[in-house]
Amino acid sequence: MARLVPLEKTRNIGIIAHIDAGKTTTTERILYYTGRSHRLGEVHEGSATMDWMVQEQERGITITSAATTCSWGDHVINIIDTPGHVDFTAEVERSLRVLDGAVGLFCAVGGVEPQSETVWRQAEKYCVPRIAFVNKLDRAGADFFRTVRAMEERLGTSPVILQLPLGSEEKFCGVIDLLRMQAIIYDEDNLGVGFRTTDIPDSYHEQARQYQARLVEDVAELDEALMERYLAEEIIPPGEIAKIIRKGTINNQITPVFCGAAFRNKGVQPLLDGIVDYLPSPVDVPPIVGIDPETGEKFFRSADDALAALAFKVMVDPYVGQLVFVRVYSGVLEAGSYVYNSTKGKQERVGRLMKMHANKREDVKEIQAGDIGAVIGLKNTATGDTLCDTSQSVVLEAMTFPEPVMSIAIEPKTKVDSDKLGISLSKISREDPTFRVRIDKDTGQTIISGMGELHLEILVDRLAREFQVAAHVSRPQVAYRESIQRVTESEGRFVRQSGGRGQYGHVKMRFEPLERGAGYIFEDAIVGGAVPREYISAVEAGVTEAMQHGILMGHPVVDLKAVLCDGSYHEVDSSELAFKVAASMAFKEAVKNANPVILEPIVSVEVVVPNEYMGDIIGDLNSRRGKVRGMEDRAGAKVVSAHVPLAEMFGYATDLRSRTQGRATFAMQFALYETVPSHKQTELCAV
Ligand code: GDP
Repeated sequence: MARLVPLEKTRNIGIIAHIDAGKTTTTERILYYTGRSHRLGEVHEGSATMDWMVQEQERGITITSAATTCSWGDHVINIIDTPGHVDFTAEVERSLRVLDGAVGLFCAVGGVEPQSETVWRQAEKYCVPRIAFVNKLDRAGADFFRTVRAMEERLGTSPVILQLPLGSEEKFCGVIDLLRMQAIIYDEDNLGVGFRTTDIPDSYHEQARQYQARLVEDVAELDEALMERYLAEEIIPPGEIAKIIRKGTINNQITPVFCGAAFRNKGVQPLLDGIVDYLPSPVDVPPIVGIDPETGEKFFRSADDALAALAFKVMVDPYVGQLVFVRVYSGVLEAGSYVYNSTKGKQERVGRLMKMHANKREDVKEIQAGDIGAVIGLKNTATGDTLCDTSQSVVLEAMTFPEPVMSIAIEPKTKVDSDKLGISLSKISREDPTFRVRIDKDTGQTIISGMGELHLEILVDRLAREFQVAAHVSRPQVAYRESIQRVTESEGRFVRQSGGRGQYGHVKMRFEPLERGAGYIFEDAIVGGAVPREYISAVEAGVTEAMQHGILMGHPVVDLKAVLCDGSYHEVDSSELAFKVAASMAFKEAVKNANPVILEPIVSVEVVVPNEYMGDIIGDLNSRRGKVRGMEDRAGAKVVSAHVPLAEMFGYATDLRSRTQGRATFAMQFALYETVPSHKQTELCAV
């Protein structure tokens, strides 16, 4: 079927931001102006269109990455909703993977907050071209220029200012378009639908002229021909400048900056123009790399090749059941067809296909290359899987997700709950790759792990609401690790030779500590076949398995190198099992003598606090074993950054609120693992 909208007129974008920067509000306004949504849902009333899940509405944060389609002029824009809370980084990563471009949203009061920094860097990792929108210019303490400076200093971007705010704080009434040198002033009484373009007010003339010159100069640097004309003082038409801005944005050289106040309905329509004008279409970005599952060979897939699509989100919709959101990279995905899930090696039938709009679902017959939609009917597809043509198998680069750092034990209240629990948890883990479930060997308890306190809280909430499982939960536990501090040699000997076929495995090994974050390395340094080739992988497996349970607290052991140096074997009695056991014995023996330590996750915390509370906040961070790393002034408040053990951060949100009468905010994210102090280790091991 012919394309309804040419690929060049499609935009797949995300809005990336710190929590509270106004992403939900901005998305709402976009959907309103693009005509798909007919009422403005304010977040604090809990009715925003993109916030589907009840929990999100209650907490006022957006967790699910729903993809919503809208039109602006003759363009189609697919908006992939990305969460701002750092507990949900995996959600951000998976959305960034399928976007072609993004709008980085910043709060003009808060500026570049640590989580904006995290998501920004994630976007960098996937080379996603970005434009920026400085929001909340109507708020007291808003400072457009300071925010732009922070983007430069903290994010290392090259911002190119395309608009200036007209008026500030309460008097913020519109924007100055520096490209066309005109003012856009919004009507107060019709939700910003109406606006006037007028001459730039006299009092802004000088400033606008200055910034326009800077804009042209910045852009001329990207294009030699333009630079020559600029130096020759030629007047360059806005359309030509816009073309170079587009090129520079797509090449990730510059970040065009827009401004407004979404909540006051100001600046959103020009932002939509900006999305269309400067962010790439699917044809402007490099083709996706596919891997041949048979040969491991890499190759490019272009839009005209056979079907290749990436599942980037699985969610349960109360009306239509399980939806798998996909981005099609090549070929056409057709309703009712059979496709091959090359990640799982399974055939799948595509039932219905849907496009999700702000307030309705639309059944479609097909989703073409470059487009995004949802599939109903897939049985075995999880986030990150590739769907492809049955006869031309390809695996698209898989996504990487961070390891969970916090866990809680869940105990179902009744037998019925216990049955439901298993089923529900397996459903949730299909949706969420950063969520893990395991049964504790010693206690028999079900342990679930996630990215932070909030992540786990929401999962437990979902169990109760969505799956009606009644359960008790324990206090969250952080994910400790163990490691060693000394190079140690050891020997493992597993020999059973009393009648019949025996067991014989014997290894000599050396274990060396590695730096934090290095993980695990296995080295085979056997000479002369003391341990035959065929048993080497069993030795490695023996160590890897034993590493799952350290000797101090039973946490996984990390950051070490295991070297297999020597050993011996028996012609008849040696087996893989015998070598595996021998290696695990060698490991346990070595760890005892290697000065083992417990490692704990450390988070970097940033607290924004009014001056008068600063002493108290720093004292509190110190008492949580935190190390203050810096302090700065921002918008009349102090910003304190610190590294604090995650274990000491439980309940921090509530505590901070009561200490500061709700006037401080904080953000945290996982930073690194560090050795726990020795008194703490003694305490932990005594439990
Ligand atoms: P998200 O967490 O990034 O999705 O942010 P929300 O859209 O939920 O906005 C957070 C809060 O900021 C809400 O109370 C909004 O009403 C408010 N907000 C959003 N945009 C603006 C704005 O332009 N001006 C003002 N004053 N408040 C805003």
